[in-house]
Amino acid sequence: MRKREMVIKEMSSAMQYTFEITMAGCGTNCMHCSVDGGPSRNMSFSDYIKCLKKLKPILDPLEGDISVTPGNEPLNHPEARKILSYTHEMMPKYYPDQPFDTPTTGVVFMRRKDKEEIIDVLPKIGANEVMLTLHGNEKHHNEIVRNPLGYQSIVDTAQYFHSQGFKIVYNLMVSKYLIEDWDTVVSFLKEHHSSKVHFTIPSYLPIERLNIYQKIRAEYDDCMKLKGRLCEMGIDEEKFFEKVESNCEKTIAQRFKDGIDYKRAEKEYPNWVFFNISQDLDIYYGNAGARTKLLGNLLKESEEELYQRIIAQKANYSYSAYYDVDKLPAIQSILEKVQPLQTNYVYSRESDCLYWWFNQCNIPDILLK
Ligand code: SF4
Repeated sequence: MRKREMVIKEMSSAMQYTFEITMAGCGTNCMHCSVDGGPSRNMSFSDYIKCLKKLKPILDPLEGDISVTPGNEPLNHPEARKILSYTHEMMPKYYPDQPFDTPTTGVVFMRRKDKEEIIDVLPKIGANEVMLTLHGNEKHHNEIVRNPLGYQSIVDTAQYFHSQGFKIVYNLMVSKYLIEDWDTVVSFLKEHHSSKVHFTIPSYLPIERLNIYQKIRAEYDDCMKLKGRLCEMGIDEEKFFEKVESNCEKTIAQRFKDGIDYKRAEKEYPNWVFFNISQDLDIYYGNAGARTKLLGNLLKESEEELYQRIIAQKANYSYSAYYDVDKLPAIQSILEKVQPLQTNYVYSRESDCLYWWFNQCNIPDILLK
């Protein structure tokens, strides 16, 4: 839930490094998830400590903006309190170095016996907010998160954290459902302690669950139904509709009718490289759910070997994160196949739209299966 659709950092020429450590599964199994979240086994606490101890001396000499993200849903781990404290104490520079909100589905958290202990530690590591993702009314929300407890867990979690003095931040995922249910969503936000709202267009990556999600991806005409209705929830309406205009399929098709240089287009995206560490302490190049190369194992390889393999990797924020860019066909041949467009989907980034078209044209990706 946190990932690319939630935090777009300032673009800069310095490399940004993100290391996601998959240490716990999620309470939900969301249809829009781009990081392969869902119920999964936990990394043992002792392995987590070994992981951080090995990782820190590898990260210290890296130049750039470095962050470590325990994933997928850290509050689900039986040792969540210790993990949050320990990570912050051991690498405050990498996790977190500024106030942040805590994302959760609440499904597992609200059933924990040690809720108060976790609540106690969160402000000490800079977390005074909790972020809850909402997709629409109860039926639609539960359908998307693929858990019948999803919606009620959001209600309960908002109430609980509010009663403990936390701010409640809602991340609204824009879809046909959210737009259809907009009046219900507005009432929900007013009733359930909303202090801030993010308005997020979900990513598209060439992975199976996102192909399924396409059937409810918002189209241009759906988004237009929200004109004049976003400001009251503190959403920057102008910015949203600029994105709708520029990142809908029909505009993108028009923009690229004379061609695209994928490598040059990639340079427009952040200079940002993603790595994922599995429960077995294997380290991969690529985000969780979009791994493209196994670099080694944190327990088996030396610090120096892993450091050299990490610094040899290039930014994998856009096209080359999923495709062999040298083998991508000219955009005109893609456009010939997808046009006339039957849909006018809206994307957060134009590259996501191209991935969808590549998928429609059976262009092979480079993701590890
Ligand atoms: S909670 Fe977030 S990480 Fe987990 S399945 Fe849903 S979107 Fe993915």
